[in-house]
Amino acid sequence: MVQVPEGGELELDVQLEDVGDGVLVTAMVTAPLVGECARCLDEFTSSTQVRFRELFAAVAGASGDDGYLLDGDLLDLEPALRDALVLELPLSPLCRPDCTGLCSRCGIKLADAEPGHAHPDDGGVWAVLKDLFGPDDAERTGDDRAADPEPGSNGRPEDTSLTGTSRPEGSKER
Ligand SMILES: [Zn+2]
Ligand SMILES: [Zn+2]
Repeated sequence: MVQVPEGGELELDVQLEDVGDGVLVTAMVTAPLVGECARCLDEFTSSTQVRFRELFAAVAGASGDDGYLLDGDLLDLEPALRDALVLELPLSPLCRPDCTGLCSRCGIKLADAEPGHAHPDDGGVWAVLKDLFGPDDAERTGDDRAADPEPGSNGRPEDTSLTGTSRPEGSKER
C-alpha cells in the first residue's frame, strides 16, 4: 500500500485554457507518498510526479458522463488530481528499486543480514532448481542443434582414441 499522507503538501503547476465550452486544465503535480515496501515491509516515504490534462466542461454532458464539470465560476481540481494520482500509485511499492526484501526462510531483512546470508539446509532448494534448470538440459539441446548442420562432428579424432582404449583385443590376448 502506498498513499499520499494526510495533510501532505502537493506541488502544483497548473495551466488553464479557455476552450469555449469549458476549461482545459494542464497540470503537473508532485505529491509526497508514504507506503509499505512490498518486499521488506519497511515504511518508506517518497514522492511521485503526475502530469494530466483534463477538460472541465461548463455544461454537463459536453465531455461525456465521467468528465469533470465547472461549478459555475469555480473549478475544483481535487477530483481530477485524485484520479490522476491514484492511477500513478504503484501496486507493489518498493522502498528502493533494488530492495532485497526478506529472507524467505527466517524472515530477516536481507539488507540487515550478514553478506551471503543463507541457511545450511538451503542446499535442498538449490538442488531442486539445479534439476529443473541444470546445465545438462541446456547442453543437450545445444548439442542437438549444433549436430544437425554438422553431422561429421561425431567422428573426430578424439572419438577414435576413445574407442581405441576400450577395444576388446587386450582381453582376448590375455
Ligand atoms: Zn524494501
Ligand atoms: Zn534467513
